[in-house]
Amino acid sequence: MNQEQLLQLVAKHASPPRALSASNNSLLPGTGFCAVCARPILATYCQCYRCDQDQKGEYGGELADQVITLSYAVKGHSQKAQFYSDLFRYKDDQPSRVAQNRLLAMVALTRMAHSACFVSEGEFSWVTGVPSTRGRKTLLVELSRVLMPDVDFLETRFVGNPAVPRDRVLTPDAFEISHRISGRVLVVEDTWVTGSNAQSLAIQLKRAGASHVTIVTLARLLDYRDRETAAYINGGGIDHDWGLQPCPVIQRDCTSL
Ligand SMILES: [Zn+2]
Ligand SMILES: [Zn+2]
Repeated sequence: MNQEQLLQLVAKHASPPRALSASNNSLLPGTGFCAVCARPILATYCQCYRCDQDQKGEYGGELADQVITLSYAVKGHSQKAQFYSDLFRYKDDQPSRVAQNRLLAMVALTRMAHSACFVSEGEFSWVTGVPSTRGRKTLLVELSRVLMPDVDFLETRFVGNPAVPRDRVLTPDAFEISHRISGRVLVVEDTWVTGSNAQSLAIQLKRAGASHVTIVTLARLLDYRDRETAAYINGGGIDHDWGLQPCPVIQRDCTSL
């Protein structure tokens, strides 16, 4: 498939993150979006409550160095509801191939348009996906390989108790890295709600020797019941089609770089 055909699979369904649809580059902290996870927040803050708590907590110095958000998906809102359900249906017991193809297309397009942007501060030594807490083989392995085909895939395992809720606290010990590593690591995660699993894995990667961890999230899940999210959406925030520019890595147009 060529770029145009891939775009047709994704553009109408997914939403670009933050104000990336607007032609501004005022995406610095304090502009109404969490500097870590891109959740709409009051402009008086730099980070959402949860990201702020994580940074002030006991693992604050070991969190991911960079979080790249490829899109928004919104819970509780009819607009682009298909994409929100894709993010669950792609990993159902009987996964939706349409949903899987949409996510694969999003990652393939990101690779085509932004591979140089991803490595502008250094090449990655490893790529990995956040392992399934239910021990399943997930599409994240394939997505990781599509995004970074020339980088070795790092095996990681979930060794925690899947019955224990982990969304409120970071639990790095719930993840196991197969061996000592070094260099920069790219972590691929499907959805970000609190970021607990991805950040817990990032901490464990640092402890295993990673010098730098970047997390790529396919979709930041937003909840329309949240006041700042509702204000962003009601103001037309997700009315735009998902596209290749501005760049999700550098957060402005990267075609002239
Ligand atoms: Zn946040
Ligand atoms: Zn780019």
